Amino acid sequence: MSEAKGSAERVWEQPIDTGEAPKSGEVFDAIVVGGGPGGSAAAGYLARAGKKVLLIEKDVWPRDKVCGDAVGGKSLGHVADLGVKADIESTPHFRVTGIVFSSPNGSRVRVPLPEEAVEKLEAGYALPRAQFDALLFIRCQQMVRDAGGAVIQGGDVRTVLFDDGNGGDDPGEGAGDARHAAGITVRIGGRKGKEFTFHSKEVIGAGGYRCPVAKSVVEESYNEPMMDRDHYCGGYREYWTNVEGCGESTGDIEIHFVDSVNPGYFWIFPVSENVVNVGIGMIMSLLDKQKKKLKALQADVIANHPKFKDRFANAEMVPGSAKGWQLPFGSPRKKSKKQPRRSSMNGIRLVGDAASLVDPFSGEGVGNALVTGEMAARHISEGKTPQEYQDEVWKVLGPELINSFRMQKLSRRSWLLNWFFGKAENKPALQEIMTEMIASKEAQEDLHSPWFMMKTLFF
Ligand SMILES: Cc1cc2nc3c(=O)[nH]c(=O)nc-3n(C[C@H](O)[C@H](O)[C@H](O)COP(=O)(O)OP(=O)(O)OC[C@H]3O[C@@H](n4cnc5c(N)ncnc54)[C@H](O)[C@@H]3O)c2cc1C
Repeated sequence: MSEAKGSAERVWEQPIDTGEAPKSGEVFDAIVVGGGPGGSAAAGYLARAGKKVLLIEKDVWPRDKVCGDAVGGKSLGHVADLGVKADIESTPHFRVTGIVFSSPNGSRVRVPLPEEAVEKLEAGYALPRAQFDALLFIRCQQMVRDAGGAVIQGGDVRTVLFDDGNGGDDPGEGAGDARHAAGITVRIGGRKGKEFTFHSKEVIGAGGYRCPVAKSVVEESYNEPMMDRDHYCGGYREYWTNVEGCGESTGDIEIHFVDSVNPGYFWIFPVSENVVNVGIGMIMSLLDKQKKKLKALQADVIANHPKFKDRFANAEMVPGSAKGWQLPFGSPRKKSKKQPRRSSMNGIRLVGDAASLVDPFSGEGVGNALVTGEMAARHISEGKTPQEYQDEVWKVLGPELINSFRMQKLSRRSWLLNWFFGKAENKPALQEIMTEMIASKEAQEDLHSPWFMMKTLFF
């Protein structure tokens, strides 16, 4: 995609031509369910390895995705590897030069992210997911089709087929190990559309937190719980214009710990052209206990909080942008043998939100979706076992997810946040360490450092 072309045509607002749907009954080397970051990446990497892939997305582009829209360094490595970084940079986006944190009692700390860090892919951007996902999908669907595969939009995957002849049916306790994926059924063309069947011995579930493939593995094949309200987070997002103190195309993103949204935070992330992503997130079980609604909580912070009400006095919410969604956290589950949850079985690998891998402190999930998309594709290409996939997911992501869960639990104590940011506000040396932890890979590797928490805040 040329520089001028990408932004002038605003390709992410246009339909994407993905060609004809294949004929029902066709056989593929792999089927990828879901065309978000995890699914696009998995399909792209498989195509690069020469596989004939079927990539199926339920929505039809252009499509929105509820998110904070922050794309950190972990994501940018894969975005560059898949050849999409230049496409993103040729379209309007917000270059993050720092993160502003504030504590419940108002201490404020700015952590700068140096330009060299961006060049080394350690820092990142903020841009609407509608745009980010479309650019990634455009590239990956082309890779799939160039390698002889096919792509379907508007395809709602209904069931996973198994070699024991059962579709979505419960095969009975412990029967998961005895069955192997054989394909999927998909309804194309809306509620009254036609059902198609496609065959493959390798299926990747990348359909987000309600992924039908994940359901088929976790609940139907192994009778294990999929949703856990202690480990799921409710998220709510609105786009606003004219929010005071937000830059146009470069500057800081803001993370505010506010008493009424604890544990969780209120974010203000500029995403480009005077548009700002504003949202909050909170653990589902705590929301249940407090009987609170995220939309009302956010309205209250914007209208009444002394730190924010003046900044929103002349701002306007973009009509239609108010949306909620869930974040399946990757925090370790006490009762589960597989951490954070079962993410594979014979012929199936789950990636991103389908495997419940969102960072439980920062809420970042795009990076882990891309990491596991690449991992699943590699494991299929190398013929590895489902257990090897489960093990590598936790080996690579487990340490930071465990650490982030600890930080999430600590952040439930307002006094601790007040103490920490109160100290950091007046200590340049502390701010430098925070920058180091966010921007430097070497420093991030020190998982036992108390500053590691800052790395988990997106970059
Ligand atoms: C409010 C909020 C704020 C967030 N903020 C951030 C942030 O700032 N930064 C960050 O990194 N992460 C953030 N996240 C998390 C991030 O959005 C997810 O972790 C990320 O989108 C996961 O990518 P994925 O590809 O696994 O799933 P998704 O992005 O959910 O993609 C799944 C795809 O599968 C498709 N699909 C679903 N069902 C089917 C079906 N039956 N058949 C075919 N296709 C199907 C969907 O249409 C979708 O396109 C946030 C999440 C929320 C809710």
